[in-house]
Amino acid sequence: MAASSNSSLSGSSVSSDPEDYQPPIWKSYLYQLQQEAQRPKRITCPQEMENRPKYYGREFHGMIPREYADELLAGAEGAYLIRESQRQPGTHTLALRFGHQTLNYRLFYDGKHFVGEKRFESVHDLVTDALITLYIETKAAEYIAKMTTNPIYEHLGYTSLLKDKTVHRLSRGRTESRRVTFQRDEKISSSPLVRRSALKDTPEKQCFYEKIHNFKVHTFRGPHWCEYCANFMWGLIAQGVRCSDCGLNVHKQCSKLVPSDCQPDLRRIKKVFSCDLTTLVKAHNTTRPMVVDMCIREIELRGMTSEGLYRVSGFSEHIEEVRLAFDRDGEKADISASAYADINIIAGALKLYLRDLPIPVITFDLYSKFIQSAKIPSAESRLEAIHESLLQLPPAHYETLRYLMAHLKRVTQFEKDNLMNAENLGIVYGPTLMQPPEQNALTTLNDMRQQKLVMQLMIEHEDVLF
Ligand SMILES: [Zn+2]
Ligand SMILES: [Zn+2]
Repeated sequence: MAASSNSSLSGSSVSSDPEDYQPPIWKSYLYQLQQEAQRPKRITCPQEMENRPKYYGREFHGMIPREYADELLAGAEGAYLIRESQRQPGTHTLALRFGHQTLNYRLFYDGKHFVGEKRFESVHDLVTDALITLYIETKAAEYIAKMTTNPIYEHLGYTSLLKDKTVHRLSRGRTESRRVTFQRDEKISSSPLVRRSALKDTPEKQCFYEKIHNFKVHTFRGPHWCEYCANFMWGLIAQGVRCSDCGLNVHKQCSKLVPSDCQPDLRRIKKVFSCDLTTLVKAHNTTRPMVVDMCIREIELRGMTSEGLYRVSGFSEHIEEVRLAFDRDGEKADISASAYADINIIAGALKLYLRDLPIPVITFDLYSKFIQSAKIPSAESRLEAIHESLLQLPPAHYETLRYLMAHLKRVTQFEKDNLMNAENLGIVYGPTLMQPPEQNALTTLNDMRQQKLVMQLMIEHEDVLF
């Protein structure tokens, strides 16, 4: 397939101005091809076959030679039959006529029929799908190879509106990467004293984080068009993929090109606990998970002087109740003093939420980077290394950690009442926020010291690190 270079399809610039929104124009070419594809023609066996598996019908011809099958199918595009292999008795071959030749596929059955990835209720469906796929992918090979070059995706209203914001995301510290110097004598003067407003109810109801789509193979009922390239999604089943978080429908090949701008639909997010952090904040359009904000707000309201805050554990059945309340009611969950008088229950729920994240706040990818940072002997280089690692965290994780560390710092300011300092908070929070990618008793034990140290340093130096 010689792809012509300099195609008029490629290279056109796409405006992301929401004003330019035009309704997508679905392209019908592949749809027409699907209509043109041959329908299956079942070639039945004239006599009853004794050894016919019960999941095959009269299209089963028993152990006939390949050449004879060829003759039976000759002349009829779309004709098919099943024969038992002569070389490997007990295995079956689907012989199918397409493009004036007989194609032979090893046919499997395990409750569904399949020759490749797609699984079908009936052999007839399998052949229908095969004929569509063969026809389209042969006839339109070049078209398909190029269909992703001029996507309509960015013209679709709901994504272009996000576009502007996405560009500006993370101007916060990554692109401009505040250089923090950690020279001892200059430390205070050079550390930017920033953002002490964290706890006020600032209207932070926006988040510009990147989030990848959560694509799963999907069977569409009725004709569907790809929301990336605007082309028809051909086939009988498993025609494309759908994002289970936002519902975007695209070709499998297009899914690799879709930007990481998934905006989860709240109705698709069933739970709050154990939900990926970025997915949750995107779904709720917040900067941080509301569990973190709400628990911290409650604790700062009535728990800061509570002895052993975060160390003393609350009654686990009540913590479980709080979890259920968040999963059920989201931000309307009642965690006030009238519902749970013991603040350790709220502190316990917050720790449980953080511990149960599918990807910990300090992500698996960066885990060892943080552990290695903690091993650096020089105090300044150590802080610098931690700072570097922090900047690599996904934004939602970074924001959550920043907020939490500012809170824990405030907790330590009440040490004479609550007896909590950066060191014992580090012990409590180390394993909550940091989990090795592969958990085994030995790494856990070996890393405990560093986990604690990373947490302790982040609390103590929260103002310069974040
Ligand atoms: Zn999505
Ligand atoms: Zn597509």
